[in-house]
Amino acid sequence: MQEIECDVHVIGSGFGGLASALRLSELGLRVCLSERLNYAGGCASTFSRFGYKFESGATLFSGFAPGQLFHHWIERYQWDLNFIPHEELIRFQIGVRSYSVQNTRSKLHETLYAMVSPENQRALSRFLHAQKAIADSFWPLFDNPKVFLLSGLMRSGAFAQAQKLLGAASAIRYMKWLGKPLSKVLQSYKLEQEHELVTYLDALCQITLQCSTQEAEAFFAMVALDYPLRGTGHIHGGIGALANKMAEQVVLNDGVFLPVSEVRKLKRQGKGYVAQGRKANVSSTHVVSNLVPQALWSLRPELGQNTELQKMARQLEQAWGAVMLYGVCEDDESWAQEPFHIEIAESLNVEMTYGRHIFISVSGRDEGEKAEEGFRTFVVSTHIRIEDQNDDAYPQIVNEVQERMWQNIEAFAPKLAAKAVQRFTGSPRTFERFTGRPKGAVGGIPRRAGLHHYRAKRVTELEDKHYMVGDSVFPGQSTLATAVGGYLVAEKIASRR
Ligand SMILES: Cc1cc2nc3c(=O)[nH]c(=O)nc-3n(C[C@H](O)[C@H](O)[C@H](O)COP(=O)(O)OP(=O)(O)OC[C@H]3O[C@@H](n4cnc5c(N)ncnc54)[C@H](O)[C@@H]3O)c2cc1C
Repeated sequence: MQEIECDVHVIGSGFGGLASALRLSELGLRVCLSERLNYAGGCASTFSRFGYKFESGATLFSGFAPGQLFHHWIERYQWDLNFIPHEELIRFQIGVRSYSVQNTRSKLHETLYAMVSPENQRALSRFLHAQKAIADSFWPLFDNPKVFLLSGLMRSGAFAQAQKLLGAASAIRYMKWLGKPLSKVLQSYKLEQEHELVTYLDALCQITLQCSTQEAEAFFAMVALDYPLRGTGHIHGGIGALANKMAEQVVLNDGVFLPVSEVRKLKRQGKGYVAQGRKANVSSTHVVSNLVPQALWSLRPELGQNTELQKMARQLEQAWGAVMLYGVCEDDESWAQEPFHIEIAESLNVEMTYGRHIFISVSGRDEGEKAEEGFRTFVVSTHIRIEDQNDDAYPQIVNEVQERMWQNIEAFAPKLAAKAVQRFTGSPRTFERFTGRPKGAVGGIPRRAGLHHYRAKRVTELEDKHYMVGDSVFPGQSTLATAVGGYLVAEKIASRR
């Protein structure tokens, strides 16, 4: 058993923990990063099975354009990573009807206009004008997370940042929608009966905000509508390559990375903390937990009384898990060389859950790391309620969802179904086993309409010098959002010192 002393112990190497550990190590703090698995990345990692490689959950990533967080790190450290920005990011289908979601505003708009009737083209144009103003005002916050914190703002060139934020002024006239669901905004533009558009937006809101247009906080949804345009694409070979580079960099910056070292207990000791892990006991002044509330309680039962944590846990219990299909297929010469995605809603206005909506990602022809020549791997996901696990029929529910997913692939992506040679399944319980998230609650907290989002703390400090990162805290779900949250926590800890 190793005995390690450090300034900050980061527990968990999901993108929240990785970003936090990397930024802390850049700021000169001694960091120890513990991870229960033998690889980094958590829900956004790449795992091996039967000699093939698969993305565990997340498959499409933002934040890689010049000026954005991941781009900044790749440039700074000259990591040998190949980011692939696809022109067509997603082929979105409503049944057999298919739309191309592309990575330039003009092409994306072309697709959205094709979803709307001729008499509502002007209304859509006005809606998209508002949407752009709102997206332009929020995205700079993700490009440079420091602007969330006053201390960070000062260090990052206050003037330039303030100018950017002033650019946000054009969104002020849309403040009336703060706290309202996206459906209300669509109504105000008389677009609520444009069913193809609403179906696209429902799917988008489900994967980004974990709820439908009827519920989703309008401002966040309008920001999310821009995600194909914000440095979005793939890392060649899988997102695990980026996660591993980040963990390796922590070590190169004089930190410690401990894979296969689950932390089992966390206690206060003097002015700091001591954690008992599988490989090491780690003493630290600060702790950053990249864990969901329920997982944190099992390490530190004292936090059972923490009302903030209890509230988060309740919200998470009412949120989502993922049902997955992983598989290997023969290559098809008509497919693009690059990895590609097909998102399917089985019909208009369907609920984007339980296999009625699926997100398929197929690896690239030249991703030899994932499959040998002539083959590709694929990953398919859908949402299912966490609370279904209280139902005796839960195994049957999962089976039915998996069957429906496959039926929809056969019906609407028949070439993939015909080329499949091997497949296996995953469920919330698989995520629980691998990522240590009780009940496999992987969806983060749904961003339902309400002003509470804007009052949320930028940094969650649960108790003195013990912080939380990850998709249950600000700014929420996605690899980029959790990384931004981790970065903010690092800045906060450094500024305290
Ligand atoms: C099916 C699916 C599809 C998704 N698609 C996308 C997408 O396309 N694009 C996107 O940006 N986002 C996507 N997401 C969301 C994104 O993956 C997550 O929001 C993000 O990766 C969560 O990161 P995190 O830091 O919160 O935690 P996690 O990824 O959960 O990481 C936590 C880490 O902590 C480790 N750990 C747990 N307990 C302990 C312990 N006691 N000791 C040590 N280590 C521990 C775990 O092993 C894990 O590595 C998707 C998620 C899912 C589930």
